[in-house]
Amino acid sequence: MISPLRIVNGRIYDPANGIDGVVRDLCLQDGKVVDEVPPDAKRIDARGMVVMPGGVDIHCHIAGPKVNLARKVQPEDHRQDVHLRTRVTRSGTGGTVPSTFTTGYRYAALGYTAAMEAAVTPLGARHTLEELHDTPVIDKGFFVLVGNNVLLYRLLQEGRREEFRHALAWWLSTTKAYAPKLVNPGADELWKGERNANITSLDQKIGPFDLTPRGVIAAFIETANELGLPHPVHIHCNNLGHTGNYETTLETMRIAEGQRAHITHIQFHSYGSVAGKSGDNPTSQARVIGDFVNSHPNISADVGAVMFGRSTSMTADAPLAYMLRRFGGGKWINADTENESGCGIVPFTYQDRVYTNALQWAIGLELFLLSEDPWRMVFSTDHPNGGSFMSYPRLIRLLMDAEYRKAEMAKVNQQALEHSGLRDCQSREYSLYEIAIITRAGPARLLGLTQKGHLGAGADADVTIYDEDPDKEKMFSTPRYVIKDGELVIEDHEFRADHSGRLFHVAPDYDSGIEKVIQPFFEDYYTIEFRNYPVADRYLHAHQTIPTAPQAAAATHP
Ligand SMILES: [Zn+2]
Repeated sequence: MISPLRIVNGRIYDPANGIDGVVRDLCLQDGKVVDEVPPDAKRIDARGMVVMPGGVDIHCHIAGPKVNLARKVQPEDHRQDVHLRTRVTRSGTGGTVPSTFTTGYRYAALGYTAAMEAAVTPLGARHTLEELHDTPVIDKGFFVLVGNNVLLYRLLQEGRREEFRHALAWWLSTTKAYAPKLVNPGADELWKGERNANITSLDQKIGPFDLTPRGVIAAFIETANELGLPHPVHIHCNNLGHTGNYETTLETMRIAEGQRAHITHIQFHSYGSVAGKSGDNPTSQARVIGDFVNSHPNISADVGAVMFGRSTSMTADAPLAYMLRRFGGGKWINADTENESGCGIVPFTYQDRVYTNALQWAIGLELFLLSEDPWRMVFSTDHPNGGSFMSYPRLIRLLMDAEYRKAEMAKVNQQALEHSGLRDCQSREYSLYEIAIITRAGPARLLGLTQKGHLGAGADADVTIYDEDPDKEKMFSTPRYVIKDGELVIEDHEFRADHSGRLFHVAPDYDSGIEKVIQPFFEDYYTIEFRNYPVADRYLHAHQTIPTAPQAAAATHP
């Protein structure tokens, strides 16, 4: 039984409820925000402090088979960053791909209370759920890879759209996933069949299928909207990282035609080329991409900012990993997953003097600074691809402090800055209110998690309290208090309690007849028996099924 809590004298930033730095009390009881608590409730005096909902990471890579491959490939990372056990918390290792325990504790120590693992093969769902269960403090869920799925392709190719919808709902339900994820749609299938093949155009034929990425993307966007999923299709566009790819990104966003779609790590998809030169050096097209997102309210994005230093590229985009291995210069891994996906791991260091790395850094900042709607251009580094989540406080400082940003700009490759528009948006500084939107209220809203990212009555009692500090990196690095489900997990910067978060997943309705379509395919092509494939309920521990729009409507109008 957790005792009720009253937080007094803190300046509250709760954008979902329009509260912008107002000093007022905040009451927590039974894991929820409430209007009032008994007078003898424990008090926290938050004078001189900022109170926000717990952070929500909409896109990161923290659990499952590919994350584990990335851990295995860099043992040196673990030796150099040992996370010691304390009286209440468990031990682990850090680096760019921390162990499960360390992942949860380090997110919590930054004031984050929820994070979404962004790319899991259906076959990897069990492993992922086991690791997420082992990830302490934070709430979590995962996006399931469906954009290179052979059976779904067959149904699409044969025009069996209703069965396609049932099959997608079956895959989401049966793997206990949160949202459908597309990664370089069409490319992994090509890659498996042809040496070094990749998708370069939305209208390219996908290997043996009578399908194009354009058709595949359109079908998923439409079907996810028909199913009324809390989060729409989460799209990693084709041509990630390639010079001139911004045109593919624009085309992909146009496919949505007013329907909801989420474009992930859009920084990696905002590259132009120098006029008249098709050479290797990209330029920034952040303004064109930013303008498109600003003027299309159906589109949301997370930035996928690049931060200098060590990172690990881990992706279901197998051809991309093959390209990156040249730049990584060391160990790398590429792996296929049966009829479902591919994967690649490349340890990587972003350097401020390298033209392309400096340009990527600048484009990420530009996208934030050009955004007119912080609710739809939210915070991410695509951890650990653009940089570790441990770099979030520095990124926040870059957005809030123009002087600091200017000093950092002076250190990077200047030619890259000239090919970006970063100097033109140098006057903008994010406010605490806007930071609260891009790091918690916005991601929660985009995910359809109505009890997260805000501090209104009925919200989950996930609260972070920061000491105010002019140095925003310092301020956001070490919150004084972190409260999860009403429990004081961190007090005076120290862990006082351990905690297990919840798993969020969806269970959209489908016609069970679809199993008769799916089963023969398994018997012909999979290494696993159909009856062994669905993830059993015992893999769920503390969990919450987030209803689809039709399920929510049925619950309120029985
Ligand atoms: Zn990612």
